[in-house]
Amino acid sequence: MTTFSLEKITQILDGELYAENGSEYVMINSISIDSRTLVDVKACLFFALVGERHNGHRYVVELYKRGVRNFVVSQFRNEFKTLPHTNFILVADSLKALQQLAAYVSNKFSFPLLSITGSNGKTIVKEWLFDLLHKNMQVVRSPRSFNSQVGVPLSIWNIQGEADLGIIEAGISKPGEMDQLAAIIRPDFGMLTNIGDAHQENFNSIEQKLDEKLKLFDDAKLIVYCADSELINLKMNEKFSEKQLFSWSKNGGEADLPVEIRLFNRETLIHFNWNNVSHEIKFPFQDEASIENACHCLALIVANNWLSDAVLERFSNLQPVAMRLELKHGINSCTLINDFYNSDLNSLEIALQFMGQQSGSTSEKKTVILSDIQQSGLSPHQLYTEVNRLLKNNHVSRLIGIGRVIHDHESVFQLPASFYFSTKEFIQKVKLNDFKNETILIKGAREFQFENVASLLQKKYHQTQLEISLNALVENLNVFKARVKPDTKVMVMVKAFSYGSGTVEIARALEFQKVDYLAVAVTDEGIELRQAGVTVPIVVMNPEEHSFDAMLDYRLEPNIYSLALFQKFNKAARSAAVSFYPIHIKLETGMNRLGFSNEKELNLVLDQLRQEETLQVQSVFSHLAAADEPQHDAFTRQQFERFDGLSKLIVESQKHKVLRHLLNSAGIERFPEFQMDMVRLGIGLYGISAVSEKNIKPIARWTSTISQLKKVEEGETVGYGRKGQVSNPKQIAVVPVGYADGYDRRLSSGVGKMWVNGKLAPVIGHICMDMTMIDVSGIEVKAGNLVELMGDHIHLTELADWANTIPYEILTGISQRVKRIYSQE
Ligand SMILES: *Cc1c(COP(=O)(O)O)cnc(C)c1O
Repeated sequence: MTTFSLEKITQILDGELYAENGSEYVMINSISIDSRTLVDVKACLFFALVGERHNGHRYVVELYKRGVRNFVVSQFRNEFKTLPHTNFILVADSLKALQQLAAYVSNKFSFPLLSITGSNGKTIVKEWLFDLLHKNMQVVRSPRSFNSQVGVPLSIWNIQGEADLGIIEAGISKPGEMDQLAAIIRPDFGMLTNIGDAHQENFNSIEQKLDEKLKLFDDAKLIVYCADSELINLKMNEKFSEKQLFSWSKNGGEADLPVEIRLFNRETLIHFNWNNVSHEIKFPFQDEASIENACHCLALIVANNWLSDAVLERFSNLQPVAMRLELKHGINSCTLINDFYNSDLNSLEIALQFMGQQSGSTSEKKTVILSDIQQSGLSPHQLYTEVNRLLKNNHVSRLIGIGRVIHDHESVFQLPASFYFSTKEFIQKVKLNDFKNETILIKGAREFQFENVASLLQKKYHQTQLEISLNALVENLNVFKARVKPDTKVMVMVKAFSYGSGTVEIARALEFQKVDYLAVAVTDEGIELRQAGVTVPIVVMNPEEHSFDAMLDYRLEPNIYSLALFQKFNKAARSAAVSFYPIHIKLETGMNRLGFSNEKELNLVLDQLRQEETLQVQSVFSHLAAADEPQHDAFTRQQFERFDGLSKLIVESQKHKVLRHLLNSAGIERFPEFQMDMVRLGIGLYGISAVSEKNIKPIARWTSTISQLKKVEEGETVGYGRKGQVSNPKQIAVVPVGYADGYDRRLSSGVGKMWVNGKLAPVIGHICMDMTMIDVSGIEVKAGNLVELMGDHIHLTELADWANTIPYEILTGISQRVKRIYSQE
């Protein structure tokens, strides 16, 4: 564990220490920049970072209440003076300070560092190098894709113990950033994976971006790259002619390591000569990117003289890098978090944080199934003491340890725990009924084969699933947030099962992102969220009279759209003896659905609000009818005018601030000038843009697998009503998804298509309730192959167009029996 005294850190940061009435907790062993994921409060130093839309200084008081006593700040706010027993280090720029601390730590490393940059493949190359080398030497590395201005310092801080090699990724998104990263890492070895379009928006040209990236290598002794890009080759030789450059080529170009690539069966053979010996390695992938990544690994190994038969042999066992944590529904109402790609302290910490985010409250039961941790650089005793600390700080309720080493260190764990020598032993002895209503993190090194544990604990469904990327969701949220002013609030519509993508998981991810409000359609949806521990304010769009008491119990805020509704809710609120209970008033401005349309009724509401203190207007809003259709823009503007006029009546009559909001997703994109105090984000979050903004990504991928293949001869028919006529012999695949899953029946008879092994296969005949037949003639397929109904190859809008409907209907129509799987990188 990295530990420093506060005085030492102050000195490293050139800061000013305010500790007159300070805290006694002055030994720092963890640093944090995110108030949401902080665990070890006493020994933690919180860096209050200031970003475009985010200011860490806002969370200092909240963190103080949670027990944090040490802060690095760049603004000494008045409210800080009232916090007793607290130490503040005042610096000019807290991000720079974080980077300075990391530079200090990395400078003290006794082992060489390899730093990898480039547009793609950084994480895969890093993970593969680890897989190839860690049996021969101690390798430490940055977790997943922690490669940013903040991620690199945090990774450096978390690297601990002794090692033979450290591997750090470095990624940049705009000019100027690499100088900072280079100063922190100062790598001994450098690797450039490639240069492409990623993050191009902030650079004038690819060349400029390349120049910027290469700054990472200014102090490196050895640089590895592929000579097949003319631009890269040229730059390397121009800039670094003094250094040891080591290049590889698969095009017979001039390079230190020419390789020959052959595809054979399902493998790739890489042939090369080195020191007059000819070698051939087998590699289980055939796509270009994987081959490139493997060659980078090979070149680094050759350049450093780490070549051995054992290392070469390991190429044939390389696995896809699962960079994601998967969230699945488990048996007996459990939630499973699967992370069985690697096991090290850093990634354990990240997985535990994700677990904290996804389990509703600290009191919810949390189980961790953990294998031996390999390669930490610490002695086993130190290592498992540290694991014990992480588990306790993250409120884990029990541990199931699998493996000899963790078993042998049973005695260091201070929480309920059981131990098994092997995965096999666990599977033989486990009683499934020991797992109920809890979140289970399954985390283990690859050789423990925890996928077998996961499949035991996973709820069994049929093979059709909807995969939701929580990363894409957050990215979409940020694209929309960037379109409005920093202080404009965001309400996210999670009605209708979050447009089909799930309730609790989505709401928790959004709560974690600190959205201001959630909105559901009916009370039951809101209750489900509250029961899962979601605490953000929630608005119910269709509050029904019979559910008023439940709404008040669960603190759900009604949309009040008429005088009658107001009076009924007021009565219920009065008998529940609440005061200033928040309500939201909806105005009718052109949609002709719900809402107050005249001043007379509104004035009656305002009168009553004035007379008693039962209810309080939190916000007033209206809904645009055609924000996405340019031909109606004049109408949209008229709606705004009407809203502006009517809503002023309310705002001006209240002493407190009443929020005004009008815009839905299309509105945010097309009429940001009407954003007022808040916006209501819906379909945009789920991946649809009204202006074809390319940064908005679909978040869902709908897949199934082929259950059976059959040959159908000329003259036969397929399916009900004999609708699928076969005029020449065909190969047909049966896919277990039907209209009861939400696969629209209008997609029958060739209208809809599914993506199978790189080709589009049309639906043949009528779609059945639970099955669909597709024509896979001429496509190489097997039973069990994956079929995409919607995703990267078939865009949601395309599917909606085929079915002659809108994306909203497709998404919300995917039935609940289709299993939802959530992933987060
Ligand atoms: C559903 C809904 C939205 C979101 O609309 P999108 O078009 O999905 O962005 C906004 N406001 C209200 C009142 C809604 O019912």
